[in-house]
Amino acid sequence: MGKYNGVLLVASAQDGNYHQYPLAWGIVDVEFTSSWSWFLTKLLEVVPDEDELVIISDMHQGIINAISTVYRNAHHGHCTWHLSQNPKTRCKKKGATEMILHIAKIYKPFEFDNAYNEFRNKYPEAAQFLDERDSLDRWSRAYCPKTRYNIMTTNEVESINARLLEERKLPIIALLGSLQKLASCWFARHRHASIASNINLTPAIEGILRSRFTDAHGMQVFELGRLEFDVRGHGHSAIVDLESKRCTCRVFDIDRIPCAHAIAASWLAKIEIYDLCSEYYSTMSWCMAYSETVYPVPEENEWPRNINFPLVLPLLVEKRVGRRKQNRIPSIDEFSKR
Ligand SMILES: [Zn+2]
Repeated sequence: MGKYNGVLLVASAQDGNYHQYPLAWGIVDVEFTSSWSWFLTKLLEVVPDEDELVIISDMHQGIINAISTVYRNAHHGHCTWHLSQNPKTRCKKKGATEMILHIAKIYKPFEFDNAYNEFRNKYPEAAQFLDERDSLDRWSRAYCPKTRYNIMTTNEVESINARLLEERKLPIIALLGSLQKLASCWFARHRHASIASNINLTPAIEGILRSRFTDAHGMQVFELGRLEFDVRGHGHSAIVDLESKRCTCRVFDIDRIPCAHAIAASWLAKIEIYDLCSEYYSTMSWCMAYSETVYPVPEENEWPRNINFPLVLPLLVEKRVGRRKQNRIPSIDEFSKR
């Protein structure tokens, strides 16, 4: 983090409109298991360790160790982009990275198996590396034992980090002030958008449904049982259960948004499509996500005097050798003018 060293940790979720939703920031000296454990223990106060929770991260050993001890019930999945970069050390052939990213997103296990066999034949060294490095339930959506939704990478979190390029050069207190301002602006923008929305679901999900309506037209639907349907079209068939909100294509199960098969079945069953979507995607949930206020930290002279502040030790840092690329750190006033 520039002149002042340290590492900025970020935890982020996704709102119902498929935008990043910042949960927590933390500043630590280095990415040890102990520093990640401290950060996750703080996160645990606002994000409980529940059975349905899925945490996606890169494959830093410190994070892996910390999640396994702090979030014992959650499933820990790995960022497929980071994973796809690793086999480059074993396999120089073009196309391996793109193929890993593609097959990781497949919904059905047997389709994944076929695609992974094809990958194994084409890139045997890369496949061996993946087998040794990671287990399928960590990177394949088809084999994830819990619901991973559409989240395959941590790229969006990386983009938050990239946006903080200048702020990360500030001293810690000034950096925290910048993060609070950023979160307030972020919340205000999405609060206005969600309040102004007059549709049932968030715009992102309405858009996905519209494209699936097009696919659903022309599908043939046969009633099998109470709220169970055999849906055929576009050279494929699927069994939909509208009661349990599942389809054998698995898109309905994992996205928690009706697939084209479920939409076609809902028309025959005369069931409202909005009732088949997860409540997380409702405009009401979207508004609630941004209803709270992110307050600034009071001025230092307003801090309570009767608190026993813990002893803060200096950062554990290695002294760098050589000249720094940037000699002058901009003042806080300069930042505020930006
Ligand atoms: Zn389906």
